[in-house]
Amino acid sequence: LEPAYQFMIRARVPGGVATPEQWLVMDDIAHKYGNQTLKLTTRQTFQMHGILKWNLKKTMQEINGALLDTLAACGDVNRNVMCNVNPYQSAVHEEVYKWSTKLSNHLLPKTNAYHEIWLDKEKVADSRKPEEIEPMYRNLYLPRKFKIGIAVPPSNDVDIHSHDLGFIAILEDGKLQGFNVAVGGGMGMTHGDTDTYPQISRVIGFCPVEKIIEVAETVITIQRDYGNRSDRMNARFKYTVDARGIDWIRNELNERLEWELEEARAYHFDHNGDRYGWVEGDGKWHLNLFIQNGRITDFENYFLMTGLREIAKIHTGEFRLTPNQNLIIANVTNEKKQEIVELVEKYGLTEGKHYSALRRNSMACVALPTCGLAMAESERYLPSLVDKIEVILDEVGLHEKEIVIRMSGCPNGCSRPALAEIAFIGKAPGKYNMYLGGGFSGERLNSLYRENIGEKEILENLRKVLFQYAKERQEGEHLGDYVIRAGYVEEVHSGLDFHKS
Ligand code: SF4
Repeated sequence: LEPAYQFMIRARVPGGVATPEQWLVMDDIAHKYGNQTLKLTTRQTFQMHGILKWNLKKTMQEINGALLDTLAACGDVNRNVMCNVNPYQSAVHEEVYKWSTKLSNHLLPKTNAYHEIWLDKEKVADSRKPEEIEPMYRNLYLPRKFKIGIAVPPSNDVDIHSHDLGFIAILEDGKLQGFNVAVGGGMGMTHGDTDTYPQISRVIGFCPVEKIIEVAETVITIQRDYGNRSDRMNARFKYTVDARGIDWIRNELNERLEWELEEARAYHFDHNGDRYGWVEGDGKWHLNLFIQNGRITDFENYFLMTGLREIAKIHTGEFRLTPNQNLIIANVTNEKKQEIVELVEKYGLTEGKHYSALRRNSMACVALPTCGLAMAESERYLPSLVDKIEVILDEVGLHEKEIVIRMSGCPNGCSRPALAEIAFIGKAPGKYNMYLGGGFSGERLNSLYRENIGEKEILENLRKVLFQYAKERQEGEHLGDYVIRAGYVEEVHSGLDFHKS
């Protein structure tokens, strides 16, 4: 008799865009085979938890039946390509989103093993000549996973500097001109190992729009050839970039491309969070909903999952999963808007507007009980911690002040905690390292402020910081900037200094 092993399944959803039909299929699968919930992830995709081993194949097949897949959603390959959700400029979003899909498809492993194993396709791979079936990954694939994102300034919702490879869209007169190329970002580290660290990517040049795939593929081949294959903890591209230097990477890239990246173009990010509510763009309507920690379920007195299912049944546009685990009901037509407004009201889906700005900018990874790597609670704990921080915020009049707060159950950093103004990374049950000083627009790493502390100390520390911030902040000054100016933490310019500050 086999134990009832449970699995998590993660779909590949380039740019986080799903049709209403796909939404309904994911909802249905979650009920049939999963734990009756969906998790919208920080990489704009769906995760389903609690899939029993004997249901894996059926689940994969039904996901594929909805024209989604789980191919390369895990493993030492390029992962789900992220893309700005941009409800403000739908035409640009459409174009950038198409590139994210093309990138994602182009960088998929070419092996047919996935189809053979999960979809009962005939065996076609020739194991004697692996280089023929994997022209880019070849027989050894990459040393570690590889992550790509596309940002459209001024929104840095994808946290572009957290990716191995980032493309920053450069617009002129609302038209896409090309992309600045950023390399060597990544969030993960290992507690107690200072050779591992979160790092922000650095911009090395600009490429025209149609060159994006060639650039991505070539960068990946550099990592394939030079990445560290002897130490998995130092195998991400950020360590290759730091070991060899930005100039070396740029030169190697230019040489392999046989043309040169142009000089990087100017751009500016305002924020890395989502902007909520209805917006109109290009004749269509988009509603950005706050989904606390990306968990879609029916809560007591809050039937979120049912409400979204009812919307999916009548919606003719699309759903966009945001990089901050929220959801946009996108491309709502004028004809459909009233019906959707009524459903949104019926199910109370915009209740998030009453939350503090801190909560609306909060993000937690899954952690316990379903992530095997978790050292501490995250998704199940952050909301109650925010309840207590909100009491302090109300006392000092900061209820509406936007502050980015993130929590991860371990230093892998799935919620991108190293870029938050306030962050917690789990060390043991009930104990966290506390970090302060990340940049509000996701362009600066934070710094360790207190180590291995529990809730009481967290609240004591935050009370002091928030009281002082409320009193001393300058016009428009974000908390992350303030804590550096006030001397709580030192500014971190690079991941190489992350453990020194
Ligand atoms: Fe799991 Fe760690 Fe990722 Fe959280 S950060 S989901 S605990 S691997």
